Amino acid sequence: MLTAVLRTGLVMASIMGCAGAPAVAPASAQGAVSEAEGAASKAGSPSPLPALVDALLVPPGRPRGTLSIVFVLDGLRPDSINPVVTPNLARLRAEGVSFAASHSVFPTVTRVNAASIATGNYPARHGIIGNTIFVPAVDAAAPFSSGDYLKLRELERASGGQLLLTRSLGELLAESGKKLAVVSSSGNGCAYLLNHRARDGVGVLINGLLEPGKVVALPSALNDTVLQRFGPSPTREGLGAGAVDWAGRVLTEYVLPELGPDVVLNWITQPDSAQHTHGPGSAEGVAAIANADRNVGLVLEKLRALGRYETTNVFVLSDHGFALNDFAVDLGDSLVKAGLKASATSDDVVIASSQTLKLHVKGHDRHQIRAIVEHLQRQPWTDAIFTHAAEGGAAPSELGFVDGTFSLGLIHHDSAARGADILVSFAWTSDVTPHGLRGVSTRDAFDGVAGPVKEGSSGHGSMSPWDVRNTWFAWGADIKRGATSPVPVANVDLAPSVLALSGVRVADLDGRIVAEAFEGGPDVEKVPFETRSLLVENATTGYRAALSVSDVGRHRYIDKSWRVSTGTAAAPAPARRDPSAR
Ligand SMILES: [Zn+2]
Repeated sequence: MLTAVLRTGLVMASIMGCAGAPAVAPASAQGAVSEAEGAASKAGSPSPLPALVDALLVPPGRPRGTLSIVFVLDGLRPDSINPVVTPNLARLRAEGVSFAASHSVFPTVTRVNAASIATGNYPARHGIIGNTIFVPAVDAAAPFSSGDYLKLRELERASGGQLLLTRSLGELLAESGKKLAVVSSSGNGCAYLLNHRARDGVGVLINGLLEPGKVVALPSALNDTVLQRFGPSPTREGLGAGAVDWAGRVLTEYVLPELGPDVVLNWITQPDSAQHTHGPGSAEGVAAIANADRNVGLVLEKLRALGRYETTNVFVLSDHGFALNDFAVDLGDSLVKAGLKASATSDDVVIASSQTLKLHVKGHDRHQIRAIVEHLQRQPWTDAIFTHAAEGGAAPSELGFVDGTFSLGLIHHDSAARGADILVSFAWTSDVTPHGLRGVSTRDAFDGVAGPVKEGSSGHGSMSPWDVRNTWFAWGADIKRGATSPVPVANVDLAPSVLALSGVRVADLDGRIVAEAFEGGPDVEKVPFETRSLLVENATTGYRAALSVSDVGRHRYIDKSWRVSTGTAAAPAPARRDPSAR
């Protein structure tokens, strides 16, 4: 069954693939737009939409800005920005261009997004598919944390020197004689992903936690200077203000005035951990956000003092949104009990967590994959499921080979080198949390404790809109004033945009240049895009799920997915919270 409705430039198509009816390739959405444009122009044949959008989104002329600064505030929801708590961020967002349809990269976790910000590519291409990843050449039986810098060095060695499977922003800038400076108060794995080639002198990387008290800067020639002038970084304990402030000092007192970078990437590790422990909107979360905003203000002050304020472009992003967790699932235990995995630690099915779970099935056994998926479809806590594409069509299918699944390729996860066989996201709601923000989700029992979770415990990683929707705005010398753009953007768009403002054009990145935000670029209201919803069903398990994607030309954004109630026993259960658990 296939339907397409054209509504003032917005196309919505629903596609249902089920056991009895072969899936139909969703070609109509784009065709509908092209037909409408062709009818309107009446002259010649209509332009294919991707080519039309590519031609629109070209940065105008020579940039005025001589410096780009990117602030990434870890886990900052866009609805946490206001003039009282975050006067600097609120002003920049109001004065510049705010992107209403922003996207974290799925799974909506820190290191996946760090790698996407650092490369302009999605996980299928850069290879960091989760906060934990399973690469048999590093560990044949278990996943490892991409938050551990030393493990990333092992991965790098096991991958012939390629930590990221595509070139990074630091490398792309260096090839044009430009310099990237990354200053990060994050954990060392995240920091290393942001500019791993700094150790070879490709730009610089400052991170107080690389090897605390010993290695805080790369290349090593910088390390003594930073340690002598600033001492070791405080840890990220408590609200992490010490680590944030230490990195801020190194940025304002050393990197900006003395190192002459063309692009600065300042990763501020909060409010992530404050919100994990206390929840978004909590007093602790708000205090962490206020301190992050204060640090942004100090950088702006320094730019004024250096006479660079008028010639700087600023981007402010967060890696992901945030939601309250109410329930934890031990999926491995569920598979063991169902006879689909030998034991919790067996390597027949290796489960890597990013709250969303990635399942690696030994030998990519399609029979076993199908059996696991059907088991998952019968569980109330399951949201969307992804498997390798169904075969047979002329174009890669948007549907997975198991009924009721979407394809990994549809969501940029069809990585031959490091990809999983099954991705499964957990259920979520738009319920209001005790702190007055929307977004509640089930999570993986990564701490080994399944069932209702302690109140306040919060996280991210799912395909819920509360995790996907992140902070994204731009301000500065080449940025339009006071606009809100409805055009979808994602964290992969940062690198191509910053490169364009540095006069560097790179073809073949997954991300696009956000030229609609640039002075002289297209009107933000005149960039065509399509949003469509896809529906899948497995008649055998009574399972249905939906996925919303938006396309800007050839660039596909993953909006959200959700379980569709069928009114049967397989329908999702309501959110559960144990009122006695504090
Ligand atoms: Zn994060």
